[in-house]
Amino acid sequence: MPTVGFVGLGNMGGALAANLVQRGHRVVAYDSAGPARTPSFAATCKDVAEVARTARTVVLSLPDGHVSEKVAREIAEAAGRRTTYVVDTSTVGVTAARRVADLLAEHGIGHADAPVSGGVAGARARTLTIMYAAPDEVCAAVEPVLADLSDRRRRVGERPGMAQALKLANNFLSATALAATSEAVAFGRAAGLDPAQMLDVLNASSGRNGATEDKFPRHVLTGHYDSGFANSLMAKDVDLYLRAVAEQGGPDEVGTLIGALWQRFADAEPGADFTRVHRFVEATRRHDR
Ligand code: NAD
Repeated sequence: MPTVGFVGLGNMGGALAANLVQRGHRVVAYDSAGPARTPSFAATCKDVAEVARTARTVVLSLPDGHVSEKVAREIAEAAGRRTTYVVDTSTVGVTAARRVADLLAEHGIGHADAPVSGGVAGARARTLTIMYAAPDEVCAAVEPVLADLSDRRRRVGERPGMAQALKLANNFLSATALAATSEAVAFGRAAGLDPAQMLDVLNASSGRNGATEDKFPRHVLTGHYDSGFANSLMAKDVDLYLRAVAEQGGPDEVGTLIGALWQRFADAEPGADFTRVHRFVEATRRHDR
C-alpha cells in the first residue's frame, strides 16, 4: 500500500485519515494544532514540507480556501518533494478550488477538487459522499485513495470548482432545510404538538428532508448537538454559495435570507455545533415577541 499524506486532522480529517489507516495505508500526517490529532497508527510530521517529502498523494481537510492555498503552496515549494497529487476534500468554494489547482499545476502537481458530504458519522461509517472533479489522468491516480476514504463517490466533472459548485448547492439546501425545520418545529411546539410525533408524521409526509430524517432525531431531540460540524463552517459555506451565485447573476432571494440567519448564529455562538441552530431560532422568536 502506498504512503498517503494527510494535512488537517480536525473533526472530518481525523475520521478520514483513520479510514486510510484502517484500509492498510501508511499515513503521514500534519495538523498545525499539534500531534494530538494524529490518528493512532499514523505518523506525525513536523510540518507540511515533511508530508510533501514523504507521500506521493496528499489529502487535505482544511477550514477554507485561504488555508488550502497556503498549504498547497507549502507542498509545491517543499525541497525534495515527492508529492505529485493533491486531493482537497475541504469546502473552499469555486474560485479558490481553481486558484489551488492552478498553483499546483504550475509545479506539475495534479489536483482533485473533492469535497465531501455526510458528516463525521458518515465518514466513520464510510457512507460519506465524495463528489469530485478532476482530469482523467488525475482520477486514475487518486481513485484508489478515494476508494479507501469512503465507499460513496461520484465524479461530477473534469474542471476544478465543479465539485465545489455541487457541494455549495448541497450545503445551501442542507442549511435551508435545517433552518426551516427549526422554525416549523418551534411553530408546532407552540401549537401544543409533541416534536417527536411531529417528526414522525413529517417523515411520512411531503415536508420530510435531511433535518427531519436525520439531524433532528439524532442531534436536536436527544439534546446531544454533536454532529461535529461547526456553525461557522456552515455560515462560510452559504457565504461561498452566495458569492458564486452573485458571480453568475443568479437568483438569490432565499439564499440571502438563509445566509444572513447562519451568519447571525455563527456571530452569536462562535464554534457551536450547527444543529444548535434550532435553539437559536427558537430563542430569537421569544426575544422578538
Ligand atoms: P475542523 O476545524 O475541525 O478541522 C480543520 C483542521 O485544520 C484543524 O484541526 C486545524 O488545526 C487544521 N488546520 C488549520 N490550518 C492548518 C494549517 N495551515 N496546516 C495544517 N492544519 C491546519 O474542521 P472540520 O469540521 O474537520 O472541516 C474540515 C473541512 O471539511 C472544512 O472545509 C469543512 O467545511 C469540510 N466539511 C466538514 C464536515 C463536518 O461534518 N465536519 C462535513 C463536510 C465538509
